[in-house]
Amino acid sequence: MNTPFWLDEPTPSVDAGSQDEVDVVIIGAGITGVACALALARGGLRVRVHDARGIAEGASGRNGGFALHGGAARYDVARETYGAEAAKELWRRTEGALDRLETVAGDAFRRTGSLRLAADDEERDEIRREYEALREDGFAAEWRDQLAHLRPQFRGAIFHATDGSLQPGRFVRGLAEQAAAEGVAFREHHRIPSLDELDAEQVVIATDGSGRGLLPELDDAIWPARGQVIASEPLREWLFDCPHYARHGFDYWQQLADGRIVLGGFRDFSILTEMTDDETTTEPIQEALDAFLVELLGYMPEVTHRWAGIFGLTQDLLPLVGRVPDHEGIWIAAGYSGHGNVLGFMCGELVASALLGEGDDLLELFSPARLLVSG
Ligand SMILES: Cc1cc2nc3c(=O)[nH]c(=O)nc-3n(C[C@H](O)[C@H](O)[C@H](O)COP(=O)(O)OP(=O)(O)OC[C@H]3O[C@@H](n4cnc5c(N)ncnc54)[C@H](O)[C@@H]3O)c2cc1C
Repeated sequence: MNTPFWLDEPTPSVDAGSQDEVDVVIIGAGITGVACALALARGGLRVRVHDARGIAEGASGRNGGFALHGGAARYDVARETYGAEAAKELWRRTEGALDRLETVAGDAFRRTGSLRLAADDEERDEIRREYEALREDGFAAEWRDQLAHLRPQFRGAIFHATDGSLQPGRFVRGLAEQAAAEGVAFREHHRIPSLDELDAEQVVIATDGSGRGLLPELDDAIWPARGQVIASEPLREWLFDCPHYARHGFDYWQQLADGRIVLGGFRDFSILTEMTDDETTTEPIQEALDAFLVELLGYMPEVTHRWAGIFGLTQDLLPLVGRVPDHEGIWIAAGYSGHGNVLGFMCGELVASALLGEGDDLLELFSPARLLVSG
């Protein structure tokens, strides 16, 4: 029951490889670490990825399976906070990352679009502002008012045609197989207790919200948050063509191709207890998920999977990507604020290109120095 639905399918094990001497060690075999490893190997470096668990067993195999463009903030807010050009560039680049993801994900990705719903009038005004900002900058957002087919009632929505639905566990494991084929070594079930123990000149921290204890200043900048999810038995009726989310992303659900519903969220019902890296499900949140499932469907189906996962939140909802100041040879890509399927894929590649000496405008926006107070 506690196994995430995404990890509950047989997968061939990834070849561990045998690189004793490496140029780069990566901590974390989720989407970030694996995408980074693949890019570094293709750049000619010898790479070893360590994970305390198995490949994709962190947030990358425990999420809602939404593959969304953009950042975690609303686009209109992002323009105000990060600057109009920076926000536009970030949104544009994530669209490119989604296109690349589609080419490597095989049957783990479906280009369905996604629907951002307003639960009340206030949220409608907010997402309307987002819609207008997106249209102004040339993005393909569509406004939807005809939502009477949905329960409960929603007050409006933005349809994003570029987004999709991801089987994240299958996607990351598939990418890890490609990385292994390019010579990347994997050490699964091997926790790195301290950065001092590592034998490579360069180290990439790719632990999103679960890397507590590696560097004190990172612990202050990236806060662990728990998300809880349920999956139902396959339903006979077809209700949702694409991933749906409402209440600023606090509730999210989708219907998979086999008919089952994957539903997560309600973290805000107990926001303080959910600021934790304890990966267990809790009764209040699970009950809220069950109640919402009944609201969505009008009845309670059998729930086959219940799980929790940990992601990393940052103060400005942007990840930290690049060199860690005051620590020679230490790099980071983490802190996607619950929006890491596409961003993690993109930022794993981005930190790899930084390590290979290539510049990129996004590295300034994501600079770790902006949030790190050195210890
Ligand atoms: C419930 C939930 C729902 C979400 N829904 C979505 C969604 O629908 N769409 C979306 O875009 N994003 C979503 N996210 C966020 C997304 O899952 C993450 O941002 C993304 O998976 C992060 O990938 P990662 O590779 O950076 O980190 P992870 O996948 O968390 O991988 C980090 C790995 O580091 C390992 N590790 C940590 N410390 C050590 C150590 N000391 N030594 C060795 N290994 C270590 C961990 O074992 C872990 O496997 C969700 C997250 C959760 C938890």
